[in-house]
Amino acid sequence: MPIDYSRIVTYSPAYTIVPTYECFNRCTYCNFRTEPGKSPWMSLSAAESILKQLQSQNICEILILSGEVYPYSARRQEWFQLIYDLCGLALSMEFLPHTNVGPLSFEEMQKLKCVNVSMGLMLEQLTPKLLNTVHQHAPSKLSAVRLQQLQWAGELQIPFTTGLLLGIGETEDDWWETLAAISNVHQRYHHIQEVILQPHSPGNQQTFNAPPFDPHQLPEVIAKARQILPPDITIQIPPNLVKDKQWLLACIEAGARDLGGIGPKDEVNPDYPHLQEQALREILQPAWWKLVPRLPIYPQFDSWLSEELQTSVRRWRNTLNPVSLL
Ligand code: SF4
Repeated sequence: MPIDYSRIVTYSPAYTIVPTYECFNRCTYCNFRTEPGKSPWMSLSAAESILKQLQSQNICEILILSGEVYPYSARRQEWFQLIYDLCGLALSMEFLPHTNVGPLSFEEMQKLKCVNVSMGLMLEQLTPKLLNTVHQHAPSKLSAVRLQQLQWAGELQIPFTTGLLLGIGETEDDWWETLAAISNVHQRYHHIQEVILQPHSPGNQQTFNAPPFDPHQLPEVIAKARQILPPDITIQIPPNLVKDKQWLLACIEAGARDLGGIGPKDEVNPDYPHLQEQALREILQPAWWKLVPRLPIYPQFDSWLSEELQTSVRRWRNTLNPVSLL
């Protein structure tokens, strides 16, 4: 039977490696961070034993997700080298790395491009109001710094994922403004693969005392985002944060087409376990949606990679998902 490409929803079979939970920012909604110097960094040998166990599990993407070390700290170089080496290790073991570790210098980004098939950074919200509230003690959440990352990624031809965090004290107009900014930078460089719409979902560690973003509002936001964003940008929603099956389907009907990395743990929202592939399939299939695994790089960007990375990507395109080009 021919595949109806308009009814495909993708996800990335992924595992998250965390080089360190320490972070010099203190976003009040954070459920991830530890104080600088208070938790050990992941060693390469520990990462290697984790990755060895994953080799038989059809996991393609290794998401390298880290807390941030202050850019002028004496430990920044060591932190960066660890991230670089973890990506290299994942590649050498035939995984495809995607790094999301906060704002980087142009040179750091340029180096990581050599060992990543794509990279990411959430814009969250551009409004400067949040610098007086949830981001009061989060110097790297300056909107100019984050927008510049999107621009540098474009200049360096790095396929990029970004997104909005919804419900942290912004207004509806702030959403449209942030989406328009993403759209503008994409129209210049054509490098944004996906925009994540992440509803704020309170966790046990955070100090920010606000209700969760109402998931019933999400379909409306997705539909409007679909109008603002260019059609070649996919909208992603995290299914573990949209608990109600009907509303998850409503989000897809409204234009979301990707469910992001599905792995054993959502490190950013550890209180919200992921539904695994089969459970997601059981929600989607009765509504005639087909769940299909994808790589952490979309096919239109393959030619931006080095020959070596293209070889690794090709191997996965042939094995993970021979029925489609995803
Ligand atoms: S949300 Fe990210 S940047 Fe903010 S404190 Fe947590 S780990 Fe750091």
